[in-house]
Amino acid sequence: MKRYIAVLLVFLMGACSEVEQETSSEKANTDTSVFVAVTNYPLQYFVTRIAGDSVITYFPEIEGDPVFWKPSSKELQAFQQAGLIVLNGASYESWLPYVTLPEDKMVNTSYSFSNQLIREDQALVHKHGPEGEHEHGVTAFTTWLDLQQAIQQAAAVKDALIKVLPDKAGLFDKNFTTLQKELLSLDQRLRSIGDRLQHTPLLFSHPVYQYFQRRYGFSGHVLHWEPDIMPDEGQWQELTQLNGELKAQWMIWEDQPLTDITRRLETLNIHTVVFNPASNRNGNEKQDFIAVMNTNVANLSAIGRNNLEAGK
Ligand SMILES: [Zn+2]
Repeated sequence: MKRYIAVLLVFLMGACSEVEQETSSEKANTDTSVFVAVTNYPLQYFVTRIAGDSVITYFPEIEGDPVFWKPSSKELQAFQQAGLIVLNGASYESWLPYVTLPEDKMVNTSYSFSNQLIREDQALVHKHGPEGEHEHGVTAFTTWLDLQQAIQQAAAVKDALIKVLPDKAGLFDKNFTTLQKELLSLDQRLRSIGDRLQHTPLLFSHPVYQYFQRRYGFSGHVLHWEPDIMPDEGQWQELTQLNGELKAQWMIWEDQPLTDITRRLETLNIHTVVFNPASNRNGNEKQDFIAVMNTNVANLSAIGRNNLEAGK
């Protein structure tokens, strides 16, 4: 019965935005059955697409990449009160072993393909230097950039939501099927780009494209650069040296890099292509997950076109 009241509350909240925040935090304390906590933007998007207004999704305000986030005590409290805790898995939530969360509320969305996770090259995972210091862990975590894996994650989200709100099974199934079609279409377009570019060497700016490369057959070399930090001379030397062999003309970035970076890359005949993993919603206010992926696919397909124009 409680859950119906909560659903009703969500409905009423739409009509009166002033009480919205108060009501939702009150609700989090009194009825946890439809309060869904997530740890990255793709998961938030999947929950929203499948459950719509039937749940309240909690994705903390996170600066930068959510994979490097650790919950504050207040954020952890919200997770502990959730009726469903949706995790990426693949070591994404490195803070998980250090906190207490209700086991029966957690769902690891990459569990179904856990035997296909990629172990990382140790040399790549640690980034030195005061600006970009962070560690990637030994398991590659950007699971959803293989869109088949994204579909499996969305399916895990759907199954978990149906367990929490069985009465909504029909609606959630229907919404999932629509989402699945869109993800499948992205997957197919990426496969055809992958087929076309299988002999085109690429540079990847950051070690987040492992599953993407594996699924779509993109080959190339992975660096550990940030779009907003000018690489030092040592990094430029490293690039010049390795690209003497590789001869890549395209570098894949998570976001549009600084103009100084793109200019200097152009002097090395390396063009910039943005493929945004959409890990966070920051800067994605106007574009949802599917829209960001559509832009990514369009950006990537330009590689082939330009190659053709150049007669390659
Ligand atoms: Zn990194």
